[in-house]
Amino acid sequence: METEIREKYRTAGRILAEVLAEAGPRVELGASLLDVANFVEGSIRSKGAKPAFPCNISLDRNAAHYTPSPNDTARFGENMVKLDVGVHVDGYIADSAITVDLSGHDKLVEASRSALQAALEIIGPGTDTAQIGKVIEEAITGYGYKPVYNLTGHGLSRYLAHDEPAVPNRAMEKGTVLKEGDVIAIEPFATNGSGRISEAQNCEIYGLSAMRPVRLPAARTLLKEISEEYKTLPFARRWLQAERAEYALMQLLRSGSVHKYPVLWEVEGALVSQAEHTVIVSDKGCEVITRSI
Ligand code: MN
Ligand code: MN
Repeated sequence: METEIREKYRTAGRILAEVLAEAGPRVELGASLLDVANFVEGSIRSKGAKPAFPCNISLDRNAAHYTPSPNDTARFGENMVKLDVGVHVDGYIADSAITVDLSGHDKLVEASRSALQAALEIIGPGTDTAQIGKVIEEAITGYGYKPVYNLTGHGLSRYLAHDEPAVPNRAMEKGTVLKEGDVIAIEPFATNGSGRISEAQNCEIYGLSAMRPVRLPAARTLLKEISEEYKTLPFARRWLQAERAEYALMQLLRSGSVHKYPVLWEVEGALVSQAEHTVIVSDKGCEVITRSI
């Protein structure tokens, strides 16, 4: 990897670690989800970077992809809160998540955290992602819980928040062998439920699929805003500036220009915890770029 690119990843990771450290204590009983999301995204920008995707604040059974709506009034109760944040510098992305537990389920939080730690310890050139899945599953089942089987970690590349390879959270027959310079996000999810997630109805996050022709001027304006501002990175409905953005967004969905990232929730309604770091595979092991030093 070129030094210049590595430095951009490191900057993104350092900023992300700072922002998560500042945001974590703001997740408290009675605080507004929208305030926390605005704080996170504003703080990323004030440090000279950009959000790589909307601040995800997923509660309890929601494993991922909840972000506040434009006028969201939700406040934290006794919830298990996953704060999942992405930062990019010139398209080079760092992705990291913590669980702030207001629900009194320390062990479930500890399960995903220690699974992440176990995975980080074995990553280096030549490590098979199947092996990473195995240590994650073993760590979580060791606590008496299940990993979320159908959510994975992933590769990261320029302006692509989810690239190959998938990094499983369970033992697999065969995976992908990692090599020096690979950038991957490891994100174990632990649950006291069945270990399966599915798509919920709620959706506040979208992404560009293709630049399809659209007739409506408002839709064309919005498509321009999205493609210039976010490129292929996910964006929030509450970020949209264009006039008649709601209506235009519906047109872009219909034309196939934009796709949805619906909330992903545990099928039985059980609690889910998450821990995530981004690493660059190095000559001997890996460099965790999202850890505060
Ligand atoms: Mn993430
Ligand atoms: Mn991720």
